[in-house]
Amino acid sequence: MSGRLKLEFAPFATPAKGVLVLFCEEGVKFGPAARRALAPTGDLVMRAAAADRFKGKSGSALDLVAPPGLDVSRLVVIGVGKARDLKAQDFVKLGGGAMGKIPATASEATLIADLPGGAIRPERAAELALGAQLRAYAFDRYKTKRKEEEEKAAKLKVTIAVAGVAAAEKAFAPRAAVADGVAIARDLVNEPANVLYPEEFARRAGSLKKLGVVVEVLGIKEMKKLGMNALLGVGQGSEHESRTVIMRWNGGKRGAAPLAFVGKGVCFDTGGISIKPAGNMEDMKGDMAGAACVVGLMHALAARKAKVNAIGAIGIVENMADGKAQRPGDIVTTMSGQTIEIINTDAEGRLVLSDVLHYVNKHFKPKFMIDLATLTGAIIVALGQEYAGLFANDDKLAERLVKVGNEIGERVWRMPLGPEYDKMIDSKFADMKNTGGRHGGAITAAQLLQRFVDKTPWAHLDIAGTAMGSPQTEINRSWGSGFGVRLLDRLVAEYYE
Ligand code: MN
Ligand code: ZN
Repeated sequence: MSGRLKLEFAPFATPAKGVLVLFCEEGVKFGPAARRALAPTGDLVMRAAAADRFKGKSGSALDLVAPPGLDVSRLVVIGVGKARDLKAQDFVKLGGGAMGKIPATASEATLIADLPGGAIRPERAAELALGAQLRAYAFDRYKTKRKEEEEKAAKLKVTIAVAGVAAAEKAFAPRAAVADGVAIARDLVNEPANVLYPEEFARRAGSLKKLGVVVEVLGIKEMKKLGMNALLGVGQGSEHESRTVIMRWNGGKRGAAPLAFVGKGVCFDTGGISIKPAGNMEDMKGDMAGAACVVGLMHALAARKAKVNAIGAIGIVENMADGKAQRPGDIVTTMSGQTIEIINTDAEGRLVLSDVLHYVNKHFKPKFMIDLATLTGAIIVALGQEYAGLFANDDKLAERLVKVGNEIGERVWRMPLGPEYDKMIDSKFADMKNTGGRHGGAITAAQLLQRFVDKTPWAHLDIAGTAMGSPQTEINRSWGSGFGVRLLDRLVAEYYE
């Protein structure tokens, strides 16, 4: 994994070297531990704050090099605004923001976790640590001449000084599992398609076995036997064989219906015979972000020993233009028996998912299915990159996803489904066609998926705008954002454990 921090909790003490990070409220008000640390500096911080017009507002920071009276090389004061307004997610952002203020040359940093009200609670200190961990991620394995900035994360040791070390460590353990899951998802999305092709993707998913996840890989022969012809049709133009990977985490009651997470894993999407234009086609190495999220999520659930039964299922293919590639006009019979006319070979993600959704529904009778896919450009036209599109046949599941997304900052916006849209994918020659035209393109894609889920509660997240190349935040500087891991982990933790 790339760019990991060495992170630990320790009791309050003023460090003798490295970078010292303190938090203050509006009005440059400090907590007791920070005041103790600053005692030898006299009125240094107040004078610097006045000179820099620093008031402790949220998102602002004051940076002092070689502060007189202290042994540390640098003192960073981070404003939090009004401490009593801070929610859990704000502490995650603060941790990320603090990481961002630590210069590339530093090898050590200490964050003093207190505010005017007193020590930051262990749970919240753990959120700080989570934010720092997420921010520290860097994908640099192909940089042979590593920049200083990238080297930092690998070497930097961050200490978070807290009132209760054991309690903070306990609170951080499950968050560390989730941070690792996010890093796994980001790695997979960032990895180029010449390295990460379906077999290699399946091999990497296989490493979840170490955590007690049961991993089953379906090859071409098995999928042919099952009749997964929609998925196989997408991959038939590639030199790389398609795979479906089923991951099972059994942490819940024996026999209890599992939660199912399904991911689109198009390792590279050229568009196929309906080939894409050249501009930004390189981004299509990220067309497997849904599958990456599912692998990251399964890691998180297993690593924190979630008390739940969960299935992760990913369809992994490469969509190439080739003499063997499928054509517009081709008709495929899906595993469900329904037929699909291929109008545009670039609308391939829904073909992959149609078979995986049906397979999961039939074999595991899940409590619900949630699929994630970089499915349509249309969702980016509709929502930009701030929200993922949410489609669901179940109001309760949809409401939970919206609520959890708002809480943790991976937001989803519910979009409509309905018979009027469904009719747009009726085909002249088959049961349905794989595009409904330009109008409502993200919706008609979701309508196709819905035809493969029967009555099972189901939600579809179109993450084309949020999974890659999304705006940089306090907790993400990576092209592949790992979107969905934290959202779904929290959904499980809050409602299903
Ligand atoms: Mn496509
Ligand atoms: Zn695609």
